[in-house]
Amino acid sequence: MLMYDIVIIGAGTAGMSAAIYGVRSGKKVLLLEEKNYGGQIVNTPEVENYPGIIKTSGFEFATNLFNQAKSLGAEIKYEKAVEIKNNGVLKEVITNKETYETKAIIIATGAKNRSLKLDKEKELIGSGVSYCATCDGMFFRGRDVAVVGGGNTALEDAMFLSNYCKKVYIIHRRDKLRGEEKIAKAISEKDNIEMVWNSNVVKLIGDDKVEGITVKNSVDGSEKDIQVSGLFIAVGQEPDNYDFEEVVELDDKGYVVAGEDCKTESRGIFTAGDCRTKNVRQLTTAASDGAVAAIGACEYIDSELDTKNTK
Ligand code: NAP
Repeated sequence: MLMYDIVIIGAGTAGMSAAIYGVRSGKKVLLLEEKNYGGQIVNTPEVENYPGIIKTSGFEFATNLFNQAKSLGAEIKYEKAVEIKNNGVLKEVITNKETYETKAIIIATGAKNRSLKLDKEKELIGSGVSYCATCDGMFFRGRDVAVVGGGNTALEDAMFLSNYCKKVYIIHRRDKLRGEEKIAKAISEKDNIEMVWNSNVVKLIGDDKVEGITVKNSVDGSEKDIQVSGLFIAVGQEPDNYDFEEVVELDDKGYVVAGEDCKTESRGIFTAGDCRTKNVRQLTTAASDGAVAAIGACEYIDSELDTKNTK
């Protein structure tokens, strides 16, 4: 069995930041990633609120972080962690391919896109339904599309799409946006973006591809159809930590329970980033969590664990 000091589950901002701090403390670090490195930030066209970086793209940010972690010595494997066994001093992380023995674990699984749970939503992914405007926006050049949500992701997606699409509808369930004022102002100045307030998408129109949506007004209960070729769903994220619920406590929404020290109830198991219970989920707080969790893991290995071994 391959042996590491720290196994980090998830190569998003939190996981990659943790890897940097882990290897720089002289630890043998394995970073496990199910899909692609970068996590959610990869899909953000512009990052303007990371201290010290005036402007970058999410992809560039993530790629720099990935190269930094790798060049410093973190090992990266594309495998899905499916189980953790907490055997005390030495723990096991079991993936779809291997089992790794490790002294400490950092769960940094982030969060996945929340679905609207519409009929045919899953079937029509790639045929008009998308969760990533940066990835799929180009396919809708010159056409009408809708974005659902009122947070920063939805607003940034709408801004991005408005550069290529004929018209962009933003469907939001309230009459007030959750996203930042700066982007909201930019949206209001765009001629080809129309706000559809107090409304929920209740139906996807089209059999093999999206041809339109039905929206329901939550104030007067009226319904109307809007013809669009694409529906970009940006209604936030939800965690996916149930594979680890035997070893760490999850809250009622599935987030790993831990405080600002990133320590879970299981000694030697830490958590970092959007998958953790916290109030503010931002790029900066994900990076911060990565550092806190890795330093905590190193301290645990160097002091707590060594003391335990010598007793
Ligand atoms: P979010 O801030 O949680 O916003 C989700 C939006 O979707 C909200 O407007 C919410 O409505 C709506 N919503 C949730 N469930 C819904 C449902 N079932 N049906 C219809 N609408 C629903 O998520 P996010 O926009 O993905 O942003 C996540 C975090 O990343 C935020 O902290 C955000 O600031 C950050 N972010 C930062 C940047 C950047 O700095 N460049 C870019 C993107 C995201 P309500 O408002 O009514 O709750």
